[in-house]
Amino acid sequence: MATINDNYLKLKAGYLFPEIARRVNAFVEANSDAPIIKLGIGDVTEPLPEACRDAMIQAVQDMGDRGSFKGYGPEQGYDWLRGKIAQQDFQSRGCDIDASEIFISDGSKCDCGNILDIFGDNNSIAVTDPVYPVYVDTNVMAGHTGTVKENGEYDGLVYLPINAENNFTARIPNEKVDLIYLCFPNNPTGAVATKEHLQAWVNYARAHGSIILFDAAYEAFITDPTIPHSIYEIEGARECAIEFRSFSKNAGFTGTRCALTVVPKSLKGKAAGGSDVELHSLWNRRQSTKFNGVSYIVQRGAEAVYSAEGQAQTKALVAFYMENARIIREQLTAAGISVYGGINAPYVWVKTPDGLSSWDFFDKLLHTCNVVGTPGSGFGAAGEGYFRISAFNSRENVVEAMKRITGKF
Ligand SMILES: *Cc1c(COP(=O)(O)O)cnc(C)c1O
Repeated sequence: MATINDNYLKLKAGYLFPEIARRVNAFVEANSDAPIIKLGIGDVTEPLPEACRDAMIQAVQDMGDRGSFKGYGPEQGYDWLRGKIAQQDFQSRGCDIDASEIFISDGSKCDCGNILDIFGDNNSIAVTDPVYPVYVDTNVMAGHTGTVKENGEYDGLVYLPINAENNFTARIPNEKVDLIYLCFPNNPTGAVATKEHLQAWVNYARAHGSIILFDAAYEAFITDPTIPHSIYEIEGARECAIEFRSFSKNAGFTGTRCALTVVPKSLKGKAAGGSDVELHSLWNRRQSTKFNGVSYIVQRGAEAVYSAEGQAQTKALVAFYMENARIIREQLTAAGISVYGGINAPYVWVKTPDGLSSWDFFDKLLHTCNVVGTPGSGFGAAGEGYFRISAFNSRENVVEAMKRITGKF
């Protein structure tokens, strides 16, 4: 019989979202008319910007004419899209990133997992706790960890706790780690990293020959002008960092699918034989072999984000969610609850009141307010005692949910 990848058996059962669904379903079964509002999801709710839709409609027309029809495109993405990204997302912020260092893909989630293809199996790997689960599970699948422990952590990974005491920015490790996952603005905590904090990571990475895997999926939500949008705003980052970006959250592409990964040509890794090898050429080979590019239609939609109309419309979309976040922060604070995040990110990270556990607070919110959020402990042991509320929702739902919470805690 064919054998399987046994590493998959090490994965702890998908617990968080199935357990949320189980508790919500049980409650709805007993209270069928309960007007549940879900503030737990990490998906956007508002429609695609008009500029993107118009560009995609035009692209469909292009596909209907032999003269402008497109078959396979470049695996790395079309030059007209890579060039606009290089110019408007990076060079305009002083980042020395060339269009040829940008790889268009169908999602940051896939890229975060796929990037492990080009790294060896003996790297030590650091993640924050709490963490976006994709970073951890893809390393488990690749055989980079031991088994899962009682507290949900995997043997062999270095966990860096982020909490209110350290301002939700991890301490720089004392030990040497080879790969470091950083996500700023952060999902789930909504925290951001200052230039100084990122500089400390870049200095660490350069001193140890480490690679930082920097997830900037939420950069468009930064409102504080002193906070870097890209790791490449930090001196030396071209020598030590890969950056992941996505159109999912800034332009509502979660169902349309388009993202990008930046692999600078100056990045190197060590071969078993001792030589230094360019990561850019490995990633280029990996993508050309295992990926056939994002559809022409979708890339035209993404390109429209960089037009004047697209910029105005995506800014308005982000501002809409950030007004939701402001309302959530303001109302919870008025209710006497401590909140973090929600200023430069669409997530508000709540300290559960009265010392409630994350799941006890979940139950109380569900039963007394009919509001659903996400228990912080589901993102890692250090998330215990916290709770994530998402600003991705209609204004009406946010206002109503906050009205129900006021006076209940
Ligand atoms: C939503 C999100 C992404 C984007 O993923 P896509 O596959 O591009 O939709 C990446 N990282 C984090 C942490 C996210 O929350």
